[in-house]
Amino acid sequence: MGAFKLMGGEYEQVVYCHDHVSGLKAIIAIHSTALGPALGGTRFYPYATEADALRDVLRLARGMSYKAAVAGLDLGGGKAVIIGDPKRIKTEALLRAHGRFVESLGGRYITAEDVGTFSADMDLVARETRFVTGRSILNGGGGDPSINTAYGVFKGMHAVAEELWQEHDLAGRHVVVQGVGKVGYELCRLLHEAGVRLTVADVDLDNVARAVGDFGAETADSTKVHAVACDIFAPCALGAVVDDDTLPELACAAVAGSANNVLARAEHGHALRELGILYAPDYVINAGGLINVADELGGYSAERARANVEGIFANLRMIFHRAKEQGIPTSEASDRLAEERMRDVSRIKLLHLPSPGR
Ligand code: NAD
Repeated sequence: MGAFKLMGGEYEQVVYCHDHVSGLKAIIAIHSTALGPALGGTRFYPYATEADALRDVLRLARGMSYKAAVAGLDLGGGKAVIIGDPKRIKTEALLRAHGRFVESLGGRYITAEDVGTFSADMDLVARETRFVTGRSILNGGGGDPSINTAYGVFKGMHAVAEELWQEHDLAGRHVVVQGVGKVGYELCRLLHEAGVRLTVADVDLDNVARAVGDFGAETADSTKVHAVACDIFAPCALGAVVDDDTLPELACAAVAGSANNVLARAEHGHALRELGILYAPDYVINAGGLINVADELGGYSAERARANVEGIFANLRMIFHRAKEQGIPTSEASDRLAEERMRDVSRIKLLHLPSPGR
């Protein structure tokens, strides 16, 4: 399928970038700049085909528009993918070539780290472009965003508790965390301090052992973790965790975690609602990392970033309220909220533009 067909009239721009010297092959997709420059990380991944890379970058760029819109940021949505195995082909020359392509877009797209890229990589990209965030603390950046992603999920769970149990306190609740990597481990730390009973699962047994040792977590089989009876199931590993197979086996009151694209398909949002399971939409509850890297754009303040991450609580509360009022799944309520803000705020912006000839 051709790029225009895949863009479906919804995307603003797709740029193919090729640097012969370093071997860089990248695609940058800008979904929307309605609210501001399109911000989204650079994913470095060995895609099997160019078509897979294009599909992924388009899907991810769109997700960033929705995430930024609901988080209340003056940012649009975009994403970049670099095709190849970062362990084999990532070099200074390649990252700097990528930075020059980002620079060439004049600020319509701002990059950051993602799967396969790190703060240190963004420091190299920053030697070629102003339009990069997610840099190391040493270089004026906000460092690892997963700390604030976990904090945002923790705050989001308080909104879940308020909605389900009419109290913010999580003490004594049972939370199951799938994936105890960067975000999952930090989330477990916060939950443990809050007196929560933890069950964890991970394919990396060292990560499991660390959570058991540090927080006294119980463990579950990583293939059946979604079926453990609990108050909140927190997917913090993979996407598409809620699908046709897992849905009937879920035994939680709520699904609330950091993973992107938790629902395999949109209709799974309806199915969760019918089952009476509260869903905290992924891009709303996991926006802490984006809020953290966005804060860097105005000179990083750890206090301000953290205060803005706390806004995830109020955002979720509003989405739960709207979903109930309108009789729709929470996933749909958050999509509507994002679309409203992209439409209404960009109209306000247009009103402020000087008319031509003045
Ligand atoms: P990570 O790679 O540090 O951790 C993921 C963990 O999941 C690893 O420990 C891995 O072994 C484990 N895992 C992989 N497959 C698994 C399986 N089948 N069952 C159980 N565990 C499995 O990644 P992370 O940065 O902690 O991100 C976790 C999730 O949150 C990802 O989906 C990511 O896209 C999303 N997310 C992360 C951030 C962030 O700031 N890091 C922001 C937004 C969203």
